[in-house]
Amino acid sequence: MLDRDNELNAFDRDHFFHPSTHMGTHARGETPTRVITGGKGATIVDRNGRESLDAFAGLYCVNVGYGRTEIADAIAEQAHKLPYYHAYVGHGSEPSIQLAKMIIDRAPEHMSRVYFGLSGSDANETNIKLIWYYNNVLGRPEKKKIISRWRGYHGSGIMTGSMTGLALFHNQFDLPRAPVLHTEAPYYFRRPNRDQSEEEFSTWCAEKLEEMILAEGPDTVAAFIGEPLLGTGGIVPPPAGYWEKIQAVLEKYDILLVADEVVTGFGRLGTMFGSGHYGIKPDLITIAKGLTSAYLPLSGTIVSDKVWKVLVEGSDKLGAIGHGWTYSAHPLCAAAGVANLKLIDDLGLIDNVNEVGTYFRANLTDALGSHAHVGEVRGDGMLAAVEFVEDRDDRVFFDPARKVGPQIAAALAERGVIGRAMPEGDILGFAPPLCLTREEADIVVTRAKEAVEAVV
Ligand code: PLP
Repeated sequence: MLDRDNELNAFDRDHFFHPSTHMGTHARGETPTRVITGGKGATIVDRNGRESLDAFAGLYCVNVGYGRTEIADAIAEQAHKLPYYHAYVGHGSEPSIQLAKMIIDRAPEHMSRVYFGLSGSDANETNIKLIWYYNNVLGRPEKKKIISRWRGYHGSGIMTGSMTGLALFHNQFDLPRAPVLHTEAPYYFRRPNRDQSEEEFSTWCAEKLEEMILAEGPDTVAAFIGEPLLGTGGIVPPPAGYWEKIQAVLEKYDILLVADEVVTGFGRLGTMFGSGHYGIKPDLITIAKGLTSAYLPLSGTIVSDKVWKVLVEGSDKLGAIGHGWTYSAHPLCAAAGVANLKLIDDLGLIDNVNEVGTYFRANLTDALGSHAHVGEVRGDGMLAAVEFVEDRDDRVFFDPARKVGPQIAAALAERGVIGRAMPEGDILGFAPPLCLTREEADIVVTRAKEAVEAVV
């Protein structure tokens, strides 16, 4: 066992280029990799038999929990039958057609078709191409700029990395600034003017957006993209009135709205989609993670009737659309998606989010809400965050060099619970599997309190 451990460590250190990882510390062997070998429900286990309660569901994606044989069996059955066939020009597979139907049945009523990809990033790339194509078909070639938000997360590609409003994903890459613009984050806790009510702050965000659109020229702005609830930017629910005010501005200037539901889709907020939860009427919706609960990679771009009509017009004028991935609608991934969506229904997981998610967040607030270094405990559905501050009365943030958030996440991991230090600010995030039980929620809260008290 030890020999194999040493061998794996060496292979990993010398050959594996990990995502979002400090390359130096890894290459020098200072941060050995924890090799995860299995899981059941909300619990994972590593090669040394050490268990952890995964209160971040991998990367907020293993929504139905680990060890679901229904999904594993569906993948295996499809692999035996037909591992792959493409979905280009007049072809498809049974699970991918079935899954398209299941997604549209669950999506907001005005949504029409789903285009499949593999990751949230590629689905957002698809969105942008479709939006540009849409405006070309409508004879508006200048209407191409995309507005996203500071602290928004939309992926790590060239275009999607540009849309992501977090410094880490821009620094040192020279990602193109144009045609992407960033507007204010709907982050009430960090509002510049502390006297503003939530409604006033939302009005201010909408005014800033309108100012940007007017400065750029409305005829040059194609779309606005936002997560219904800011995820990786800090797990921040929208302030009261935010989406209503933003949508009014977008409608005024004929700007499309993309709801990036990679995290919020398929139940995480206690509704099938975050759009329904917050009264958002998007023109396009991005889905990934919870679509298959990450048993296999699969993403999608859902287009509304309004957009679909123009896309059809485009094909009638211009011919087939020049956009396709080899693995679009991959039959194995689609089989995983079909089994996963069935499981969400059969297990009543959305009801569980409403029940246990609410219980979890209330207890987290009780346990930590009045701690001297906790500025805010917030969340919605099965998403929660604790934001740490040096001084809660004057809202003074910790010096980033102290790395309070990562230290607390590490202290929590030592206690057998996985949360996530969000990339900007000192924020401990939680996104447990939707099947979390009350007993597991209690463990997360107790351990989180211990971890916080051990560090600050
Ligand atoms: N959009 C949102 C809201 C996300 O949270 C993520 C990933 O966390 C993405 C897009 C990108 O997805 P992927 O990592 O699958 O490319």
